[in-house]
Amino acid sequence: MRCPFCGAQDTRVIDSRLSQEGDQVRRRRECTACRERFTTYEVAELNLPRVIKNDGSREPFREDKLRAGMLRALEKRPVGSDRIEAAINRIKKKLLACGEREIPSRLIGESVMQELAGLDHVAYVRFASVYRSFQDVNEFREVIDRLESAPPAGDRDLQPDLFESEAKP
Ligand SMILES: [Zn+2]
Repeated sequence: MRCPFCGAQDTRVIDSRLSQEGDQVRRRRECTACRERFTTYEVAELNLPRVIKNDGSREPFREDKLRAGMLRALEKRPVGSDRIEAAINRIKKKLLACGEREIPSRLIGESVMQELAGLDHVAYVRFASVYRSFQDVNEFREVIDRLESAPPAGDRDLQPDLFESEAKP
């Protein structure tokens, strides 16, 4: 840590203590060159990364947008809001844990797809079809086939829902 008074590189910590709430470390430092003392604070960075959009522009991460996208895919599906919120929290936790300041929107989309796959297959396909805008019909077919090969109970209405999908972009 560079000394703010003389710019020397070498400073030493003479005291280090945790804040009362335990979320901050306060360090008293002394410059080995000019002997000036100063204080630094160490906190965990808990800012969600900024989102790099496909066109290269950046925007702040918006939880409401994430939620809206998921709710659109889950419309009229038998999934409780507590499970949806838990999924959103897992996605946010993952974004925080990655430690990046910026993250491509594609990666967030992949996380959403992963969560939806665990919540509801119809919602997954709705989201995937809009989000990935499948390159060709075969790719879409493959996803459907995979889901149809082992449809869980309650997803028997997969077919009708797919073709009357309300999940338009
Ligand atoms: Zn100094």
